[in-house]
Amino acid sequence: MSRSKAVAILGSTGSIGRNTLDVIGRDPGMEVVALSAQSNVALLAEQCLAFKPRYAAIADPALAGELRGRLEANGAGSEVLAGPAALVEIASLTEADTIMAAIVGAAGLESTLAGIRAGKKVLLANKESLVMAGDLCMAAARESGALLIPVDSEHNAIFQCLPACGSALGPEQTRHVAKLVLTCSGGPFLRAPAEAFAEITPEQAVAHPKWSMGAKISVDSATLMNKGLEVIEACCLFAMPPEKVEVIIHPQSIVHSMVYYEDGSVLAQLGEPDMRIPIAGALGWPERMPSGADLLKLAEEEPLAFLPPDFDRFPCLGLALTAARQRGLAPVALNAANEVAVAAFLAGNLPFTRIAALIEAVSVKMPNREADTLDIILETDALARVYAKELI
Ligand code: NAD
Ligand code: MG
Repeated sequence: MSRSKAVAILGSTGSIGRNTLDVIGRDPGMEVVALSAQSNVALLAEQCLAFKPRYAAIADPALAGELRGRLEANGAGSEVLAGPAALVEIASLTEADTIMAAIVGAAGLESTLAGIRAGKKVLLANKESLVMAGDLCMAAARESGALLIPVDSEHNAIFQCLPACGSALGPEQTRHVAKLVLTCSGGPFLRAPAEAFAEITPEQAVAHPKWSMGAKISVDSATLMNKGLEVIEACCLFAMPPEKVEVIIHPQSIVHSMVYYEDGSVLAQLGEPDMRIPIAGALGWPERMPSGADLLKLAEEEPLAFLPPDFDRFPCLGLALTAARQRGLAPVALNAANEVAVAAFLAGNLPFTRIAALIEAVSVKMPNREADTLDIILETDALARVYAKELI
């Protein structure tokens, strides 16, 4: 595998998608072969005009006509594909060597898996794919020879701190690792007293102090569910048991994660909190390329602090760690209930403090077993969503 040349982006209108295009735009040797969105036709058409991809996929088929009209009018010339099957199609294009998997939530699973099965270099932002189907994704990568490069900043940091390996991540890379430590900004409510949590509004929850991201992951960062999902993600990617993946609060978001080795050495990756850094690292791998991010000015930063997480004020973190230990379908149910809870919170239909309660109620109700086929994973996801909606 080499530095990316021809890239298809799943979720190009989102926060990660836009940052990816920003990085690609800095490299005349990199080409965009496909772009996709759920419903933002206006931005997708604009991106097509700027990057001239061969294909433009719109997940909502009702919007295909509007997209076609806009692309004819602006002269972008991209062929329009529509519906969820179009996402799978662009994830498997022969013209693409690299797939950026940047759809949010369970909606990204099938296309991410398609990219892996097609043996692509898959840049993985969609952590929910690994939370739901980690074993399936890793096994598919071993079979197809796909290279999974994590884009999540913590996992990308760990990827950079592990010895390089040529293909899919494997246990030989972590042979001398004592533990992985995921850093966590603590989110907007790091210092908020427990009594204030019931009044938290969606506007406050999405206003992350360090990172600018999509609404769902911003709420996950406010509840610390995001870090919990990231523990599960790390266990899958790096074949580590949950006991060897620790979470530490680091409000400055300068140290993006750490690898502790058995000899006492600790390797960390540092940088500005700017997602273009891991994105450029993944696109450029095994080389490096400009990202557009500022260089860190450490002497001007506030002192770097590290503290343990508070499981009482942030119960979602504990729920996710339990699911990480249970494995099987437990993370699938957790993820589905969380997606429903976060959507309800954002819509003003669920108080912030009920998010964890809802996830726990669904998790307890769901039977657990091996998550060995895509069908059973998707069935469990659907059932957990039904339970969660009933409880709202
Ligand atoms: P976002 O909400 O900004 O963008 C989501 C993208 O997915 C959009 O392009 C949207 O059109 C598309 N999409 C949404 N639902 C879809 C559906 N049903 N079918 C097809 N496309 C759909 O989200 P984001 O913040 O860019 O996050 C994307 C993924 O990356 C998430 O899994 C998130 O956890 C992960 N991630 C994001 C960041 C970040 O800084 N934003 C950091 C680490 C990881
Ligand atoms: Mg992260």
